[in-house]
Amino acid sequence: MKDVLIVGGGYGGIAALKTLAPRKDITITLLDQNPYHFLQTEGYSLIAGTLPFDKTIVNLNSLCQSYGENISFIHNGVSHIDLDSKCVYIEQKEQIFYDYLIIATGSVTRMMDSIEGLQNCSYGIKSLRGAFHMKQFFEKELFTRLENHKHAKAHYSIVVGGAGLTGVEIAAEMQHYFNRYYKNNTLACDKITIHLISGSDTVLKGMHPDIIKYATKHLEHLGVILHCGLHISKVEPHKAYLENGEVIDFDFMLFTGGISATAMVRSIEVEHNKLGQIIVNPTLQIPGHTEAFAVGDAAEILDTKGKRIADTAQAAIKSGIHAASNIEHILNGKEPVAADIRIVGLAIAMGGNYAILSIGSIKMRGKVAHYVKKLIENLYKWPLWIRCRFGFNKACEIEG
Ligand SMILES: Cc1cc2nc3c(=O)[nH]c(=O)nc-3n(C[C@H](O)[C@H](O)[C@H](O)COP(=O)(O)OP(=O)(O)OC[C@H]3O[C@@H](n4cnc5c(N)ncnc54)[C@H](O)[C@@H]3O)c2cc1C
Repeated sequence: MKDVLIVGGGYGGIAALKTLAPRKDITITLLDQNPYHFLQTEGYSLIAGTLPFDKTIVNLNSLCQSYGENISFIHNGVSHIDLDSKCVYIEQKEQIFYDYLIIATGSVTRMMDSIEGLQNCSYGIKSLRGAFHMKQFFEKELFTRLENHKHAKAHYSIVVGGAGLTGVEIAAEMQHYFNRYYKNNTLACDKITIHLISGSDTVLKGMHPDIIKYATKHLEHLGVILHCGLHISKVEPHKAYLENGEVIDFDFMLFTGGISATAMVRSIEVEHNKLGQIIVNPTLQIPGHTEAFAVGDAAEILDTKGKRIADTAQAAIKSGIHAASNIEHILNGKEPVAADIRIVGLAIAMGGNYAILSIGSIKMRGKVAHYVKKLIENLYKWPLWIRCRFGFNKACEIEG
């Protein structure tokens, strides 16, 4: 029996697992540093308090249990991968050997070294821990305001550095949260200010002009203060310096200005791009290692014209499926095929029941777009949850 090892149980890793799971002639091991898959695309709902944290995760152990005996989960972090020896080192120094490997370890927030002080004075939101920390921080602040009338009048400022998809969603959702909080509690006090800083001339750089227009208008409507075409030059505790000399005082700073591959991925001896992502062949195989694949945010995924595809859950899922299908091809004695990964559309949460949707030439905004986004999210997670319930019950029966 051939051993397939999937490192990382996020969007890409789970998509690969689901694709290979029906095969009974292989063993599949899923390895993740966390026992859950964090649904990053719903991180904004967690922070805004519209979803409890257990509704933003999928239990990886139960998920693997739901499949056959040949599929198992190991809760452990990978410290290094030696592609030449086909060996993965886990954090307790154990080694796991494989016949086929899929690297799907995602990415981390890129705290740019060029911005002095950024690393020490701001937070990222890529992990459940980060999102949870931020949620607790804000709720504590609001509670303190509720209890202490004097404090309620104190000005409170949040800086969101980076106005891509993540920055826009978080800024809109938090501003909506605060607006709702003040309205519901009829508190007479200064509003909390959210500053969204974009190094580009607009928010959502590279997206369709209509999407940029709708998003800008709605952010302004919510009361988010936009600073476009300005880079952050330096960050000090409670102060963000912009390149035009402006200084923004803040109580909390979140940075969403970019991603990079994890340190573990960057340590693998292969070719990387400037974000540390693994350069893969069109088949998603790692050059020189036909049995090893990299998918999702851990890899540089290109379209058929060689243009880089945005790092999204959608690209991670499609690349995960493709890598798994290519392993199947090889197992069946066929040649692996080149990937043709396309982003079909995008749904952007803009606070409360408002979203912006772009699918091909269809551009939509408002409540309908919000419900379509929710439907897409639910269609992704509900089947996984049903599987987890099945896996959990199966494990309970075995344990007696
Ligand atoms: C707030 C936010 C909103 C977003 N909104 C959208 C959206 O609306 N639409 C969209 O398409 N995309 C969105 N994205 C981007 C999307 O979430 C990512 O592109 C996607 O998660 C990438 O999937 P992945 O499988 O490559 O990695 P991930 O989903 O990050 O999974 C990686 C997994 O690898 C594990 N791992 C990492 N290192 C190790 C290690 N050394 N050992 C073992 N395990 C390891 C991690 O624990 C994790 O479970 C958003 C991202 C954020 C942060």
